[in-house]
Amino acid sequence: MKKYVKGMYLIWIDEDYVEKAINAGINTILLAWQNLYPEHGEIHDLYGTYSEVINFLEKYANDPRIDIVLVPTLNMHFKNLEKNECFYDGKKYWQRTPCPSNKLSIYNRLNPIIKMCKKYNIKNVIFDVEHYLGNTSEYGVLTIWDNKYFPKYQCKCNTCLKLLNSSENQWEKFENIFKNNLKNNNINAYGQMPYFNIWNFKKYIGEKWLFTERTYPGGKPSKSLVKEIFRKQWFKKLESKILGQKIKICAGIWAEKFSANKLLEWIYEYGKISLYDGYWLYPQARFSKYTKFKRDKNYFTLIDNPNDPTADIHFFEKLKKVNKRIDKKRKSWKFKLRNLFKI
Ligand SMILES: [Zn+2]
Repeated sequence: MKKYVKGMYLIWIDEDYVEKAINAGINTILLAWQNLYPEHGEIHDLYGTYSEVINFLEKYANDPRIDIVLVPTLNMHFKNLEKNECFYDGKKYWQRTPCPSNKLSIYNRLNPIIKMCKKYNIKNVIFDVEHYLGNTSEYGVLTIWDNKYFPKYQCKCNTCLKLLNSSENQWEKFENIFKNNLKNNNINAYGQMPYFNIWNFKKYIGEKWLFTERTYPGGKPSKSLVKEIFRKQWFKKLESKILGQKIKICAGIWAEKFSANKLLEWIYEYGKISLYDGYWLYPQARFSKYTKFKRDKNYFTLIDNPNDPTADIHFFEKLKKVNKRIDKKRKSWKFKLRNLFKI
């Protein structure tokens, strides 16, 4: 990972805008990968396709200007698991949730990710643990990836009943299988998004990076708002230190919450703060001609649209300047001094 991440999330790949962003100093691309199994069918009409991800990697995987962080989804989206791989709560087989003691199921989930990383020499992975299906219960998705284990999530399949007698054992076992798979394949999985508990980081290896959404601001970057967000993230970092899962924080900014010029202000505000080791922009609707988000709300035109007062035709030139100012600031002796007291 770069020392200071200037990240952009990609869902609808638009090479013109990728190039504009890289030329303006973006050094990390978070590549959303929602459809791991093309044979299961393409993901619903809001997201990008398997072939778009492949085309991007063919072109950019070894581009020295950027780091690619692959962001694959961990939940099954289009196909049910085999019955013997399912989580069973005593009444119902959760058809898209793996049984915690089933190695095959976890391996099947990780296998396409491992293959992709090897083929394109990708070092960085952050798992997307959201489920984009609406009613998760209807689809058989338990939110195991983003919760601390609870007794209600105890699998009662025959294997689990034979081997294990407490929910905690089940999930520790699950965690170990998951982690060993990553380790054996040399995948630096830095964490997941979103996260809910620092506990989540235990199952990942390598440096821990928290690409947080809790820093998504709105409106003008007032001092009090910046401070309030800072305070919460500072405590999150402290908590991670206490729990032995020390994290680096990359502050998320929802790019469509405000005008192009306010976005630049927020990028600079976060860049000045030593608690953060980067920023990342989400969700790219203003940075792609191919976005599938509706453009009927405020702030949804292209970021450099000449006809929209909320956009700015010179956005990328200004972004370049802001990124340079951040680099300069972070090299200053004052910043370095403050950095000494960083938790
Ligand atoms: Zn089970």
